[in-house]
This record gives sequence, C-alpha cells and structure tokens, in this order.
Amino acid sequence: MGTIEPQLAEVIVPVDFPYNYRIGQYLEKYIKGLSEKKIMATKCPKCGGVFVPPRKVCGNCNVIMKEWVEVGPGGTVENYALGHVRVVNGLVEKTDPVEIFALVKLDGATALLASKLLGVKPKDVKKGMRVKTVFKEPPEDNFGDLIGFEST
Ligand SMILES: [Zn+2]
Repeated sequence: MGTIEPQLAEVIVPVDFPYNYRIGQYLEKYIKGLSEKKIMATKCPKCGGVFVPPRKVCGNCNVIMKEWVEVGPGGTVENYALGHVRVVNGLVEKTDPVEIFALVKLDGATALLASKLLGVKPKDVKKGMRVKTVFKEPPEDNFGDLIGFEST
C-alpha cells in the first residue's frame, strides 16, 4: 500500500521496420485502425500496460493481451532525437531539413510511440510539448498511414 510501481516504457525505433515486418494479426488490426484514423493498442490484464503498436504478449508479465483500447490521437513528447542522416537502402543520406523523431506517449498509452515530428523546428521542440497524430489521406493500409505528429 502506498507505493507506486515504476512504469516501464517501451521504445520502438522506426528504422525501416514497416517494410520488412512480417505482419501479424495484431498489427493488421492496428493498420486497419490507422486507415480509420484510430490508434489501437493492447492492454495487459495484469500490469495495465497499454502498448502501441500493439503486441500480443506483455513483455513485463508474459501474459497474452486480448483487450483492445483506442489511444491518442493527442499525446505528449517524452523525448526526441534529431536526425541529421537517414539510411536508405543501406546508404547514408544527409537529411535537409533535419528530421525530428519524437517519442510520444499517446493519451491512454503507457508505451512510447516513435514517429516524425512535423512542422516543428529543432530549436522549438521541447519535452512535454503537446502533439497530435497526423494521418495519411487517403490511407494506404500500411504503417505509413501514421505520418507523424504535429504541435497543437
Ligand atoms: Zn503486463
């Protein structure tokens, strides 16, 4: 009683993972949600962790998650990284302008989702800033339907 469990945050780094990923049932549901501008996450019945992108097994508790919850589209920047280069087909390219990757805790989620921060200059990015999710229009039914985040 009276103690607070530390929350574990999970970080997914978006290094070309959409394109070589074997899509499972959970990720199919996630992608279908994106095409409807919804962000679907799975919730652990034991620790209450809410994971996005959704996964089947909670890594903290090793239990299968069957409960789905909608999170976002708003969120808070927990951390960020500036991308001066990117890797395209194994070659390093300079990015101009510099890209910002934000680790965002979507409202209702406990895990962090990494994506590009759009329309924000590197000098203006701050931890704790509020953002909202930007979706591709029209959707293409893949991970890219979540384009990134923008400041609100
Ligand atoms: Zn758990």
